[in-house]
Amino acid sequence: MSVRVIPLRAGSCLNLAAITERGSPWRVQAYPAGFTLILHPTRGPVLFDTGYGAGVVAAMRRWPGVIYGLITPVQFGAHDSAREQLRVLGFPPEEVRHVIVSHLHADHVGGLRDFPQATFHLDRRAWEPLRALRGVRAVRRAFMPELLPDDFEDRCTWLDFAAAGDDLHPFTQVADVFGDGLLRAVPVPGHAPGMIALLAQEDAGLTVLAADAAWSARAARHDRPVHPLARVAFADPAQERRSGAALRAFLHANPAARVHVSHDTPEGWP
Ligand SMILES: [Zn+2]
Repeated sequence: MSVRVIPLRAGSCLNLAAITERGSPWRVQAYPAGFTLILHPTRGPVLFDTGYGAGVVAAMRRWPGVIYGLITPVQFGAHDSAREQLRVLGFPPEEVRHVIVSHLHADHVGGLRDFPQATFHLDRRAWEPLRALRGVRAVRRAFMPELLPDDFEDRCTWLDFAAAGDDLHPFTQVADVFGDGLLRAVPVPGHAPGMIALLAQEDAGLTVLAADAAWSARAARHDRPVHPLARVAFADPAQERRSGAALRAFLHANPAARVHVSHDTPEGWP
């Protein structure tokens, strides 16, 4: 058994290239808000994140969301949402029963409200530090609570982590999302609390969905540090460094694995 991974994007954000990778020019660049459709043999269409959604654009017109829009301007059109794109691909939103959430930044959960039948799978450690935050304190963490469905917490299934085998070294914890070995989550916290990467077992081999553990596929494989200014945005900069190093070591030990990061063109795709 295997899954099929289809990388998509729901909108993009503008950022300075020099911020995302030290030594790059001080030029504004558009970065895709990537998410992934995963075709699972028994669970149907599964999402890993959702990218932006219409709610993000609306929230950015109001205080305090307007702060988010000033720091990270968003490009998002009427047909860009995960919901619309899945509909075009032949998957009505009601058919999506599972969304695996890498972390709770607005550009990853902006479409959660569009999937009313979905259970959300995430690391409890992603939710606990943010759940009580509102207003400016939330936006400062790139968290917009109004994007989450009202029954968000009731629909959450916390990932159940256990000790990882040697094959996942240097990762020490793993959560097998559906218990079939096809989608395994490993912790890569630091950029945001409780962030996870997802190891997807495809026909051709392993695909690592690394979320925001690196800004580019190149940076996921090689040590390309962000600008020091970008580090202030990390929830835990030291932890972010350790997670990046663990990801690089894992990819080095598994050279055949493909890596997709949220804000770059996925490896192996045009
Ligand atoms: Zn993020």
